[in-house]
Amino acid sequence: MKLHEYQARELLATAGVMVPNAIVVDSPDQAAEAYQQLVQGGAPFAVVKAQVHAGGRGKGGGVKLVHSADEARDAADVILSKPLVTHQTGPEGVKVSKLLVAAAVDIEHEYYLGITVDRATNRPVMIASREGGVEIEQVAADNPDAILRCPLHPLGGLETHQARDLAYRLGFVGKQVNQAVKIMSLLAKLFVQRDAALLEINPLITTPASDEQPDGQVLALDAKMTIDENALFRHADLEAMRDQSQEEPAELKAKEHGLS
Ligand code: ADP
Ligand code: MG
Repeated sequence: MKLHEYQARELLATAGVMVPNAIVVDSPDQAAEAYQQLVQGGAPFAVVKAQVHAGGRGKGGGVKLVHSADEARDAADVILSKPLVTHQTGPEGVKVSKLLVAAAVDIEHEYYLGITVDRATNRPVMIASREGGVEIEQVAADNPDAILRCPLHPLGGLETHQARDLAYRLGFVGKQVNQAVKIMSLLAKLFVQRDAALLEINPLITTPASDEQPDGQVLALDAKMTIDENALFRHADLEAMRDQSQEEPAELKAKEHGLS
């Protein structure tokens, strides 16, 4: 079962991963209001993001930077008015009924960080790359050496030395290293605790150095999470996050009849 970005980022934030402030809305007027609220809270401007069970929203026009409440309203209006087509949706696209209005942040560099189950070894594997913000499948095809893989121990999870090694190889420096290590550890724990099949932050970013943050900050700007259907009986709170409007009709029917 796929979660929306806003649901996955909530789980990440609760676990202790830093994410920019954001507000979920379902109308253009609410988007304008959310913009005001975020700017009052210190955001320089904002991003309006379609909440759909598909990636590639940026390229498909489902992620828009907005610099005023009016722009936020207009962007929301455009995104909500028609199905969003990305390379993951098929030509008919998917209906957008919710938006996330997020505080925009200055990006120094975009990384990829994710965990999935390696079918060959039947173990979770952490996948990381310095080439984030783009489709990881594309990086794998064009530049496979840019992808780091780190198998997780079924009981021990991600060891601290593994996380530190990954953080250095990704090129994190100074205080970013410990922030990245912490995020990797939290991600590995969340993956196991919530019976995830996929947990992905793309992009994980660093912000430029500032007076308050001389080494910049490491933040999650996007979140994607898929839960193992067969484990959902253990997670009533996650089952309650199911959005049937985004699911395949054939899958829904199968579920009604107890089939996977
Ligand atoms: P998708 O993966 O579906 O295209 P993302 O959430 O990754 O959607 O957004 C696409 C791109 O938009 C990111 O790679 C990043 O460059 C930019 N972006 C997303 N959220 C923010 C934000 N809060 N502040 C600044 N830029 C953002
Ligand atoms: Mg993304």
